[in-house]
Amino acid sequence: MRKTMICPVCGKSFVQRNCRQISCSRACGRRREAARHRAQKHEAVCRNCGKVFLTADKAVYCSAECRITAARAPMRDKDREHTVDTAYLCQKWHREGMDIREIAEILRRSVESVNLALAVRLGPEDYAMMEEYAR
Ligand SMILES: [Zn+2]
Ligand SMILES: [Zn+2]
Repeated sequence: MRKTMICPVCGKSFVQRNCRQISCSRACGRRREAARHRAQKHEAVCRNCGKVFLTADKAVYCSAECRITAARAPMRDKDREHTVDTAYLCQKWHREGMDIREIAEILRRSVESVNLALAVRLGPEDYAMMEEYAR
């Protein structure tokens, strides 16, 4: 049995060709599909840059760029390897009377990691520089 329907997309009335027909035309059917697709998307916060983006899946990064950046970023673990400046900074601050725990806090490292940095022997020019900045 043919029914007269109102197209939910454009509002025109039309006679149903079959019982599954919901919109008046193929064009309206496509627009309806697209709208449904958009509605399924949800907002997510990028784990790399913090931007809010729309996604239909479980993406955690807003772009391929952010995904790559995040993969390349150094691990933020507290026992990560020392950089060139770690030993210098730790020793400088320690000389200035800063507590090892405090240094660990500032550099986001473990106390053991700071202790290791303090045990590193720096070059004489590094110690000279520390003296200079201490004054
Ligand atoms: Zn229509
Ligand atoms: Zn991002």
